[in-house]
Amino acid sequence: MTTSDDDPTVPIVCTDCDTSSRVALSDVADAIENHNERLHDGEDIATVDPDIAAHIADMAATDLGLLEDE
Ligand SMILES: [Zn+2]
Repeated sequence: MTTSDDDPTVPIVCTDCDTSSRVALSDVADAIENHNERLHDGEDIATVDPDIAAHIADMAATDLGLLEDE
C-alpha cells in the first residue's frame, strides 16, 4: 500500500523560463530531466530550488533510513 499523499513535494525552478513548479520528490529527477530535454536541448537549466536542495537531501536520506538518531 502506497500513499502518495505522504510524498513530499519540492520546488523546481527554471531561470530561463522564469517558472517554478512543485513535483513529488520521487518524480523530481524525471521532471527536471524532461523539462531540460524538451525545452533546453538537454542543458541543465531547470533545477531544484537551491534554498531547499539541502533539505531534500536530508528528506531523501531519512526516507531511505540512512539517518539514525540513535
Ligand atoms: Zn525551462
